Amino acid sequence: MTTIEGNLQQVRERVARACAAAGRDVKTVTLLAVSKTFGPDDVAAAVAAGQRAFGENYIQEGVEKVLAMRALLPGQTLEWHCIGPVQSNKTRLVATHFDWVHSVDRLKIAQRLSEQRPEDRAPLQVCLQVNVDGGANKSGVAPDELPALAHAVAALPRLRLRGLMCIPEPSEDPMVQRSAFRQVRGLQQGLVDQGLSLDVLSMGMSDDLEPAVAEGSTMVRVGRAIFGHRPRKEPVTASAAGSA
Ligand SMILES: *Cc1c(COP(=O)(O)O)cnc(C)c1O
Repeated sequence: MTTIEGNLQQVRERVARACAAAGRDVKTVTLLAVSKTFGPDDVAAAVAAGQRAFGENYIQEGVEKVLAMRALLPGQTLEWHCIGPVQSNKTRLVATHFDWVHSVDRLKIAQRLSEQRPEDRAPLQVCLQVNVDGGANKSGVAPDELPALAHAVAALPRLRLRGLMCIPEPSEDPMVQRSAFRQVRGLQQGLVDQGLSLDVLSMGMSDDLEPAVAEGSTMVRVGRAIFGHRPRKEPVTASAAGSA
């Protein structure tokens, strides 16, 4: 068994235990393997272990991996989720190459994604990222601006609004973690009560998937617990390596 296969098995068991503790059917939670900074061979090892849905943060890197995997495993249908910040100049890459985007927090970005989604592809599946624990420079729409954004995005023709995503501040206290997730679930319920049909809560990562599942997460985004610690992102430059 490869390390990645063993890790995946452990993460699936964690999800199953969290579901059992919450009285939920394990089939209601999708595991997204976050492969950012890892190469095609690691993705292929996860595919061999039965994983089909992958998340990427950095758009250029993600697109390269989508294309590399198509060449490496032709005929294998994988599902690609963009979970990182989307700048205006990257919307076409996202609309062209990804199946999902979890990190929409501005209408302008959503409009561009809708306009640029190729006609021969299914609508782009979208979650809105919500900033629940403040921090003015954090990504995500503020809760009081969420309803207007959600209704506007739901009306865009080439997008399909599915739900909400959040990345709460890490906390040692499981009750603090749960309260952020509970707040997002409450915001989602508010939108459903206003007539939007939403079925996805993208919440929980390697360190906090249990409290997220306890609060209703339907999609956990797990990187390190599957692939191991991330290699450094920045290439070592000649000047940095050479200076003593
Ligand atoms: C990196 C990342 C993850 C995965 O985090 P891990 O702690 O490695 O599980 C999940 N969601 C987003 C948005 C990320 O950037």
